[in-house]
Amino acid sequence: MWAMYDVATAAVEAALNAGARYADARVMEMRTEAMAARNGAVESLDREERAGVGVRALIGSSWGFFAVPDVGSAAARRAGEQAAAVARASTLVPGADLGLAEEPATQGSWQSDYRVDPWSVSLAEKGDLLESVTRTMGEHGADVSEASHRIWDTRKWLVSSEGHRIDQHIVECGASISALAVGERETQQRSYPGIRGQYGTRGWELIRELDLPANAARIAEEARALLTADQCPSLNATDLILGSEQMALQIHESVGHAVELDRILGWEAAFAGTSWLELPKLGSLRFGSELMNITADATLPGALGSFGFDDEGTPAHPVDIVRDGVWVGTLSGRDSAALAGIERSAGAIRAEGFNRIPMVRMTNVGLLPGSDSLDAMIAATDDGILMDTNRSWSIDDKRLNFQFGCQIGWEIKGGKRGRLLKNPTYTAISPRFWGSLDMLGGPDEWTFWGTPNCGKGQPQQIGHTGHPAVPARFRGIRVGVRG
Ligand SMILES: [Zn+2]
Repeated sequence: MWAMYDVATAAVEAALNAGARYADARVMEMRTEAMAARNGAVESLDREERAGVGVRALIGSSWGFFAVPDVGSAAARRAGEQAAAVARASTLVPGADLGLAEEPATQGSWQSDYRVDPWSVSLAEKGDLLESVTRTMGEHGADVSEASHRIWDTRKWLVSSEGHRIDQHIVECGASISALAVGERETQQRSYPGIRGQYGTRGWELIRELDLPANAARIAEEARALLTADQCPSLNATDLILGSEQMALQIHESVGHAVELDRILGWEAAFAGTSWLELPKLGSLRFGSELMNITADATLPGALGSFGFDDEGTPAHPVDIVRDGVWVGTLSGRDSAALAGIERSAGAIRAEGFNRIPMVRMTNVGLLPGSDSLDAMIAATDDGILMDTNRSWSIDDKRLNFQFGCQIGWEIKGGKRGRLLKNPTYTAISPRFWGSLDMLGGPDEWTFWGTPNCGKGQPQQIGHTGHPAVPARFRGIRVGVRG
């Protein structure tokens, strides 16, 4: 498909001829599939194919962006000219020239790994799987049972005026099941593997490894049992143990979004607020306890935020975000890094599709494992609560104060898991919460959770992010607050 490089090159040349001092173009071809079943029957199958080219042009202080749903050279040239025209119009608002952090112009090719091509699995097999797990959930107490799978197949070709020339093929897929039990005045839901399922840059083998049939009965029974469980008590301070799926959401909301450099710089505030983190404190601010080590690492095999190169051609590389509890890094691109005086882009720039401007997105922002285990945490806890699987979240627009709810909880008494608790919630201020972290699961419990629906930007872009996480214990946390 070398012709796609020619299309991208035509777009870049047109932008330069129209006055851009830097330009890049992405030709993208995307193919997706989504199937959903409910109460024993497949209800929807959506398959879509899209292709086009998107061009960024830099003039003075401003980017211009333009995209066309067409992969012909003539359309690409028009898109390049339009991108430069948009950038030129934006320079009417005065500002200092926008710089780009140095990055060697890379030429390369990258493909995500998979063992079973998800397109090679028949629709009949996929449908049978989803229908049978929803039937099982129904037989075990679910009033509404749902199952779904999704596949994304993306090919992209990037060319820049500095000499980048990169093609990538990324295959992602995953699945989700959930059981809803309806009581007299409430409903209770259990999902597997997490609230949104589990996704990765992998093939259909990921869905087989999830073993949905082996978990369907259990989650339906748990949803039903929650209807008659006791409410999570309201306590000002207790020991809180979180399962790894809830930890993934905790990291996403309270660390991942807070360390996006465009939010810290105040460029991005519209969709989910800015950040409590202030740039002068980078390198010295205590974010959490010594056990807290967070990295943004797009090189992790199979994780949903993995790729070979970001959408401006920076090779994937691990970036320390929090080291031994101290805030040391951000998620950045070449422009935000240059403005903030950070030497190198974190390689965190991605666009949802050819028709959206690339922006700072989480890669795999995750917690490095410790040396304990969930069992060890329970055994070491005299009085506390274990919660897992996200249900609700609310966080202020500086990403500082939050309240999260989980689908399920258990009382921990004398080192043992006790009665089931429904509607568990916890609330805290981010640095105080992370500062109370005192036990972490080990490498055996390290799970690369994938979030396929992170919204950001205007117009909104949906991003795919990864969150490696382990179970963790936090001391003296307020729980059971009623929303
Ligand atoms: Zn998000």
